[in-house]
Amino acid sequence: MARSSAIMIRNGLLIDGRGGPPVDDAGLLVSGETIAWVGPMARAPAVEPQTTVIDAAGKTILPGLIEAHLHLSYRDVRDLPDLDLKCPPEETTIRAVAHARLCLESGYTAAVSAGALHRVDVAMRDAIRAGIIDGPRLIAAGRDICATAGMLDWNGSWLKLGMEGLGIFADGIDACRKAARMVIKEGADIVKVYVTGEGMLFECTAEEVTYSEEEIRAICEEAHRRGKRVSAHARGAEGCKMSVRAGVDILDHGTLVDDEAIDLIAQRNVFVVPALNYQIAVLERGPEFGFAQEFLDRTMYRQELEAAYINMRKLVHAGVRVLPGGDYGFAWCPHGEYARDLQTFVEHIGLTPMQTLVAATKWGSELMRMDDRIGTLERGKLADLLLVDGNPLEDIRILQDKTRLALVMQGGQAKAGTLGLHHRL
Ligand SMILES: [Zn+2]
Repeated sequence: MARSSAIMIRNGLLIDGRGGPPVDDAGLLVSGETIAWVGPMARAPAVEPQTTVIDAAGKTILPGLIEAHLHLSYRDVRDLPDLDLKCPPEETTIRAVAHARLCLESGYTAAVSAGALHRVDVAMRDAIRAGIIDGPRLIAAGRDICATAGMLDWNGSWLKLGMEGLGIFADGIDACRKAARMVIKEGADIVKVYVTGEGMLFECTAEEVTYSEEEIRAICEEAHRRGKRVSAHARGAEGCKMSVRAGVDILDHGTLVDDEAIDLIAQRNVFVVPALNYQIAVLERGPEFGFAQEFLDRTMYRQELEAAYINMRKLVHAGVRVLPGGDYGFAWCPHGEYARDLQTFVEHIGLTPMQTLVAATKWGSELMRMDDRIGTLERGKLADLLLVDGNPLEDIRILQDKTRLALVMQGGQAKAGTLGLHHRL
């Protein structure tokens, strides 16, 4: 947690997160927790003798990455029901602390929670903010809201578990209002509601809608009244349209949207976080984890991904902010691999590396409503930045390689990186 008064990074390639051309031979001066100057070295200010100088030749300076669909409390489980059945709060919290540290080591200085067991992410957000533990700046979602027979209602009724670790089960407008109020009471910034199922749960598929529009609207009304956002887990077109009409701010997944849904999402300026890497990894690594080919076929993930690649491209063309965030925290897509999403955005959705980096930085900060403080490298903003060996515009995959992360800085403090500055400064 060492802090230096001033740090000058010089001679690097600058990508400031705003999407303009990169700047060769650029530098950045950090003073305290903020950026005091950034620009071409030719215009660099004189620095005081005690300033720590870092030579960034051959390296790129870019904003800290933002993961837009993070489950800090999911601990790389092999089966969806294990998320609550095998995750008591104490062990889950300890693992979440380790995942938060791993986020920083992976170059992620901020993140959007897409739901948590109990209210682990709320506690994590506050502990990180207070400097008690290391981790990404976080906005929290707390427990999910789900209908009876909805996606998270996967434990048999006869078991009489009464478990509410992962989700609050709510049916009907009044119960939905109460559930939203409970999530707000527990400290969330985002109220997450499960509107559709998903392909791996054959009892509650991606196209099935588990809530009425009125129920979702009640959740949105309560959240918005208290200045909170609503994110909806929705995959099929009908569930997406219903969610957007009801007023949600963020669509998690949105993979199977149709053209009408795309228009609606663009009109209402809703963020979309497809979380594609979860599905890509199931198909790629499923056999390693005992998923038979027959099971993989039944999930329809391959078809859903093919549709999603096209739909995400259409959404971006319609002006929608589509953000990387990959639902990490399962055995096949474990924590720490967050930057795989950036490769997916380039290779499958067809964004340029520069557009992908804007989505992973500036747009993330807009979703977090922190764009006045983070997301781009500009004078006066918090010094949340990375120093990476090589040029991610030439090969976006280098951001997955932790040995290339020379420096991860958050609020002017070195937090990780091969330069070892987090130990030295
Ligand atoms: Zn998720």
